[in-house]
Amino acid sequence: MYIAKHLIQTTVSGDTSLITSFHYENGSGSKVYLQGNLHGPEIFGTALLIKLIEYLKENPIIAGTLTVVPQANPFGVQSQMYGLIYGRWNPQTGNNWNRIFSKQEGDGVESVLARTLISLAKDHEVVLDIHTSGAETIPYVFTSKEASDVLYPLGGECHILYDESDYYGAFDETMWKCGKESGKKVSAATWEASSHMTLDEKDLDARFKDLLYFLSSLGMLNKEEDMSLSYPKLFSMKQAQYLFSSQAGYLTWTKSVGEVIQTGETYANIYEPWSGEMKHLYAKSPLILLSKGTLQAVSSGQEIGNIIVL
Ligand SMILES: [Zn+2]
Repeated sequence: MYIAKHLIQTTVSGDTSLITSFHYENGSGSKVYLQGNLHGPEIFGTALLIKLIEYLKENPIIAGTLTVVPQANPFGVQSQMYGLIYGRWNPQTGNNWNRIFSKQEGDGVESVLARTLISLAKDHEVVLDIHTSGAETIPYVFTSKEASDVLYPLGGECHILYDESDYYGAFDETMWKCGKESGKKVSAATWEASSHMTLDEKDLDARFKDLLYFLSSLGMLNKEEDMSLSYPKLFSMKQAQYLFSSQAGYLTWTKSVGEVIQTGETYANIYEPWSGEMKHLYAKSPLILLSKGTLQAVSSGQEIGNIIVL
C-alpha cells in the first residue's frame, strides 16, 4: 500500500490544496476506484472510505487493485457559512463541481481537479463516486445499463440508468464514456448513499456493510455473509426529476422517502404566513419520493426533493 499527494492549487498565502489517494494492490483481479465528497455538503463518503481504509489495515485485499480518494475536492467542503456547507458549486465560476469533467485542458483550477481525478480513476474497471442527497434519502444509484448488474450487490432500491444522450459532464459518466471510447467496459456509478451534511454512525455502519459486500462480490475481499438483496427497480434518467413546490410557505412532509405516491395524494403540508392557513401539496402524477430537500421554507417553484416519475 502507498499513499500519494496531488497538488491542486497553491493559494495566494502560499498554502496548498491537495488530494490524497490510497493505493492497494494484490496480483491480478478487479480494478476498483472509490471517491467521496466531490460536492462540499456530501461528507458521508469521506467517513465511509476512512472506515474502509481502517478495515483494510487488518483485512488486506485478496486480489486486484484498489484506489481510494476519500476527499475528492478540497474546495467544496471548505465552503462553509453559519453551520452550513454550501460547496456544491465553485463560488468563483458558479459551476457545479460534478459538471467539470468534460473540460480537462488548461490551467483553470476546475480543469486541474478534473484531470487529477480522471487520471487517478482511469485504468479501473469499476468507478464509484459516493454522493448524498437532500436532508433524507433512500440509497440509490446512477449508472449505465451495462453496469447495473455489477452494481447490484451495492444495494440501493433504485438504479437510474443513463445513456450517451444523457451526458452532462459528471464524473461517473465521464469515466464510463472514456472507457467506451477506448473499447473498455467501465462500470461507473454515482452512489447516493445518505443525506447531506450528516454523519450518522448507524447509517455509516449500514452503508459500510453494503460496500464490503460489493467489494467481496468483485473478488477483492473475503466473501461476506450472504445478504438477501432484492433487485433494484430500474428507471431512466428522464424519470429522475426534481420535485418543485407549487405553493409557497413553510413545508412539512407527510410521506416518507421510498414511498410511492399516487395522483392526488398529499405528500406535504404548507403553512402560509400571510393567510394563517395550512395547505397541502398533492402529487400531479404517480411518483416515488427518492429524497427530501434541506429547505423547508420555500417560495413557489423552488426545488424541494428528488423523485422518480412513474
Ligand atoms: Zn453530489
